[in-house]
Amino acid sequence: MSIFVFNVQQVRGRELTSHAESLDYLKSLGLPVSPRYHIVHDIEDAIAEIEQIGQNRAALDFDMDGAVIKVNNFAQRELLGSTNKFPRWAIAFKYPPEVKETTLRSIEVGVGRTGVLTPTACFDPVFLAGTTVSRATLHNEDFIRQLGLCIGDTIQVRKAGDIIPEVIGVTRHEPDAQPYQMPEFCPSCGAPAVHLEDEAALRCVNPECPAQALRNIIHFASRDAMDIDGLGTMVATQLVDKGLVHSAADLYDLTIEQLLTLEKFKEKSANNLLQAIEASKQNNLDKLMFAFGIRNIGDKAAALLAEHFGSLQAIREATEEQIGEIDGFGGVMAQSVTEFFAKDGTTDLVHRLADAGVNMQWKGEPKGDKLAGKTLVVTGTLETLSRSEAEALIVKNGGKASGSVSKKTAYVVAGAAAGSKLTKAQALGVPVLTEVEFLAMIAEDKSQQ
Ligand SMILES: [Zn+2]
Repeated sequence: MSIFVFNVQQVRGRELTSHAESLDYLKSLGLPVSPRYHIVHDIEDAIAEIEQIGQNRAALDFDMDGAVIKVNNFAQRELLGSTNKFPRWAIAFKYPPEVKETTLRSIEVGVGRTGVLTPTACFDPVFLAGTTVSRATLHNEDFIRQLGLCIGDTIQVRKAGDIIPEVIGVTRHEPDAQPYQMPEFCPSCGAPAVHLEDEAALRCVNPECPAQALRNIIHFASRDAMDIDGLGTMVATQLVDKGLVHSAADLYDLTIEQLLTLEKFKEKSANNLLQAIEASKQNNLDKLMFAFGIRNIGDKAAALLAEHFGSLQAIREATEEQIGEIDGFGGVMAQSVTEFFAKDGTTDLVHRLADAGVNMQWKGEPKGDKLAGKTLVVTGTLETLSRSEAEALIVKNGGKASGSVSKKTAYVVAGAAAGSKLTKAQALGVPVLTEVEFLAMIAEDKSQQ
């Protein structure tokens, strides 16, 4: 770490009257100051100096992204004063990021955890803003098409904000150059890559794609999904890396011998995990529906589906129209469900889960009616319940849990540090309940049944 000192905040036994004088003084004390500072007398000279500094920029042995013009005389600075944010006696000029030319050698396509195919430009190394760079993201197919990229092109690269390398243009194509085409198949699993709706991104939608397997398994085991205690990111990563698990269905085939090969796993922890996996087979259908990780289907929508249709089989057989009839379901959500079950990979996954003995029926609990027809919003941090537990209680008592406050909201349940939702409830005159009042309301409901 090294610095250039540029300001004397306070000094005793010496009177400094200008910026240049204070820099000279700092230098005389042996402190490092910027090697280049000039006093100019009008704006034309200031502009010329800024241009000069910009031209010499590449030759400096440090990175520099701008220059500052300051009033030199301290008495004049005092007179000018400052706004509530900035002094009126100084202004910064920012130079555009340095641009270099290089040759595009190849485009690598990776698969992100959400299945998005991400192209990366690989080019001859260039020195830019302090480091050597040879790769830059190309974002998606549209971006590549807009640039008209071909392998072998002479391209312009720079660092956005002097940090992130980016390709900003093509200066020359090779003779016979062909526009680059994104692959039609997932580079990880070979499944066809598709555009969903009007997304610019190409996606692999194979639920068993190894590139996405990890993310799917972590989601499958998470608390609001199958709630498999002890199967977090660390364990899931090892299971996928060791090739023990490729899809959620493989979890139910794991043996104690396999688990004992994982880092930090002893007999006890391995047995605990096997028990948690076994116990998850008894989960209600809403948890399994959420665990599938269907696009646009959160835990609330998963619960609505499970309750409405009663079994996984019925959900799989339902048409988009039938699903769309559920109160609270939009067309996009219904479409996401039918698309998920229409995929080959899904059929296999469902069959394997069924063979493993995973529950696929809705075990309907009789609903209370104290909150029937009422919409409640939970906000802030409650003392004993998590937000999802409170929302589950609302649904269990016949109510609807919503994320936003409107005139139709019956109650807002507010905990500590409740913010804008509480303010909105108060503004709309929506009754606000504490956690204790909310629990009392439900308890009363149970005694009535
Ligand atoms: Zn794939």
